[in-house]
Amino acid sequence: MNIHEHQAKALLKDYGAPVAAGVAIFSADEAEAAARSLPGPLYVVKSQIHAGGRGKGKFKELSPDAKGGVRLAKSVEDVVANAREMLGNTLVTKQTGPAGKQVNRLYIEDGADIARELYCSLLVDRGTGRVSFVVSTEGGMDIEAVAAETPDKIVTVDIDPDKGVTDADVAEISSALKLEGDAANDAKSLFPILYKAFTEKDMSLLEVNPLIVMDDGHLRVLDAKVSFDNNAAFRHEDIAQLRDLTEEDAKEIEASKHDLSYVALDGNIGCMVNGAGLAMATMDIIKLYGAEPANFLDVGGGASKEKVTAAFKIITADPNVEGILVNIFGGIMRCDVIAEGVIAAVKEVGLKVPLVVRLEGTRVKEGKAILDQSGLNVISADDLDDAAQKIVAAVKG
Ligand code: ADP
Ligand code: MG
Repeated sequence: MNIHEHQAKALLKDYGAPVAAGVAIFSADEAEAAARSLPGPLYVVKSQIHAGGRGKGKFKELSPDAKGGVRLAKSVEDVVANAREMLGNTLVTKQTGPAGKQVNRLYIEDGADIARELYCSLLVDRGTGRVSFVVSTEGGMDIEAVAAETPDKIVTVDIDPDKGVTDADVAEISSALKLEGDAANDAKSLFPILYKAFTEKDMSLLEVNPLIVMDDGHLRVLDAKVSFDNNAAFRHEDIAQLRDLTEEDAKEIEASKHDLSYVALDGNIGCMVNGAGLAMATMDIIKLYGAEPANFLDVGGGASKEKVTAAFKIITADPNVEGILVNIFGGIMRCDVIAEGVIAAVKEVGLKVPLVVRLEGTRVKEGKAILDQSGLNVISADDLDDAAQKIVAAVKG
């Protein structure tokens, strides 16, 4: 789960991290009061969407010369004017994809006098099985470009979970970031704070880009992006409150209600599969035959008829879906249950696109018989290869 910058900053502030004063607003009418509550004379109006690259982003509805999704403002009036221009419009950044994201809230923040922009993130390093700090002096801009062009400017420091962030770790990170004086002193508290927040809140990513050294020599968290590990969500009800459903795909929200592992994609072949590995293989083979999957979907091992029905409904509700491939290997899952679920769903929502079904395993005969007797126009397939070719042909034909 992701949260907005202003929420991430509030959380880090609770842990004692240095962040600027700011106010989140949902309508332009709130902009003036928000700005007046800040010291000024420099303000920043920041689009709150679950994607980075906002500063360099462009609003779809505005002229290409208009300013991006993070704007400096030099007066209260300027804050209000920018808020009016930004709210409700669609921001397209490197991370949103061409469709962009609607800006439904803004963060009005105290402007900082920036001396240096640094990069600092924490993530779970699968290689070492530890939390790592990944830092660079080249912050504020595209860290992917830094990684590609000057990888030596990125330094990784992994943290021993038994010891936490030691003085030696802080020294190593600070030296990589060339911190001196007050900044180096601030670092002694900031890096342990970031680590504490990361581990206590079960984050999977905490990215501060930029972490800045201000003109006065002190550090400040200027941007914050946080993702949480969904598997630990049950321990953090306070964090569940921060979820913003307007940022999520409606189909994925529906799927999560039914405990289905579903990820919306851009293609036109809807997939219903059991097992994540088989789901990945199914997507691969669809691509091999020249088409694109519309989704990843693992209905799970012991899915009920209701769950299968829900899954089928989610797939058919996607307007991009021009064909459906059901690929089930019945181990724990029974093929007759799948067949009944498919039929129940088709009865409810209809079937307007070709449907290829490949069933194998437990109760496969019964499952196939149920489909045959249903009168549905089901194209049956014998194996994965056959199934993929048939659905691709049906969609292209
Ligand atoms: P994004 O990464 O989505 O583009 P950031 O929050 O990193 O958004 O903002 C982009 C840039 O805007 C920063 O690199 C910084 O130069 C500037 N900026 C952001 N917040 C402030 C602030 N409070 N004061 C001054 N400049 C800021
Ligand atoms: Mg940033």
